[in-house]
Amino acid sequence: MFNDNNLILAKGCRALGIAAKRFELNMRDCLGCGYCTEGCAYDRKQGTMITFIADALSRGVQLIHHCSIEEIVFERRGGMTRATGARGSVRASRPGSQPNTVPPGALQIAAGIVVLCGGSIESPALLERSSHPDPQHILGTGLVLHPSLPVVGLMDREIVNYRGISGAIFSDHFYESRGFYFECLFGHPVYGSFVFPGVGAEHFELMLGFSRTAAFGVMLVDSVDLANRVQWDRMQRKAVIRYRLTDADKSRLRFAAQTAVEVMFAAGAREVLLPSEEPVGTLRAPRFQRAEQAALCAELRFRPHRTTITSAHCQATVKMSEDPRLGMVNSRGESHAVQNLLVCDSSAFPTSCGANPMISIMSLARYQGRRVAAELARYDL
Ligand SMILES: Cc1cc2nc3c(=O)[nH]c(=O)nc-3n(C[C@H](O)[C@H](O)[C@H](O)COP(=O)(O)OP(=O)(O)OC[C@H]3O[C@@H](n4cnc5c(N)ncnc54)[C@H](O)[C@@H]3O)c2cc1C
Ligand code: SF4
Repeated sequence: MFNDNNLILAKGCRALGIAAKRFELNMRDCLGCGYCTEGCAYDRKQGTMITFIADALSRGVQLIHHCSIEEIVFERRGGMTRATGARGSVRASRPGSQPNTVPPGALQIAAGIVVLCGGSIESPALLERSSHPDPQHILGTGLVLHPSLPVVGLMDREIVNYRGISGAIFSDHFYESRGFYFECLFGHPVYGSFVFPGVGAEHFELMLGFSRTAAFGVMLVDSVDLANRVQWDRMQRKAVIRYRLTDADKSRLRFAAQTAVEVMFAAGAREVLLPSEEPVGTLRAPRFQRAEQAALCAELRFRPHRTTITSAHCQATVKMSEDPRLGMVNSRGESHAVQNLLVCDSSAFPTSCGANPMISIMSLARYQGRRVAAELARYDL
């Protein structure tokens, strides 16, 4: 299941004395088809759809899918604000879906307790449009998202890059000292094309050489800057993300980029490319022919729309803190302002969890689920 692309990262790291490791992967009887980033059609990846949700359904939980929640309903009771349900709508199901448990149309749910888990972009947006109190103006602020810089290596031979498990090898060698990882990830050509640099003829040429291309990513554990945030835009009716790398994070990312380019050359690449159109040294863009040119990464400015930085790990927009001036929810995940409203997803992290977040999010959900079950009286349930 270790495809050539993963072995290339391992080889480059080994050549430079950088420790590389195998991911602990949450899958069973994997077929190695390589579609992991698009979702596992064979249910071999042990995601929530086939674990927690399947367990809940077998215990009688009602699942409503194709549903958009517009707002959480709050009521004033005895001088306190309390969550009592949610309003939204149900769309017609897409062909091939399991039958839904309610018909399409408007939806109103009455609930003894509301647990919000819309993710780090949608949870703060939903709270904002529900007019959740925010006296400290902290809702949605301090977004972290693990900015990731793809590094592309052109090899002299054909390699297996998107079959097998796409992400099997990583390196946390620089985590303690610099706060970044190298992680292997490749996708099928459509997905892979996003991370290739250039437009028009240059991009087309790279796509023609797809089967001789290796790639891995630098994943930076970014620091909290309250100016980085999510807001609900009432006019556009969508969540808007504002994010800029801090100067300190840019500095770490430059070092990470340089080291990653060196790793790719050490693994045998004849040319290494970054998805950037920023000039470095005498080069019109970071397309490197020799390992010594990696030092030019020190000139990268990571300008918006000039360098592609990707993200799949948004966190920390409805922060947890016992101090209501610093966080929207307490350590039970309970809103400081609204009774019987819990937030239980990546948005409730106080800051970055420091690694790929799925295990931390699922652990939080499991912990909170068990805690609520043990403390029903706390919620008048
Ligand atoms: C391509 C990709 C690959 C990844 N690979 C990994 C990996 O290998 N390891 C890892 O640890 N992490 C990985 N991640 C990150 C991980 O998937 C996320 O961090 C995690 O899913 C976030 O969990 P969450 O519960 O906070 O939010 P989500 O998983 O985003 O869940 C939020 C849910 O709420 C629903 N929702 C939102 N708003 C509404 C609304 N108004 N009404 C109704 N429903 C709503 C959404 O549809 C969604 O189902 C990856 C992410 C991506 C995109
Ligand atoms: S490679 Fe990924 S998508 Fe394919 S079977 Fe294995 S877990 Fe599923």
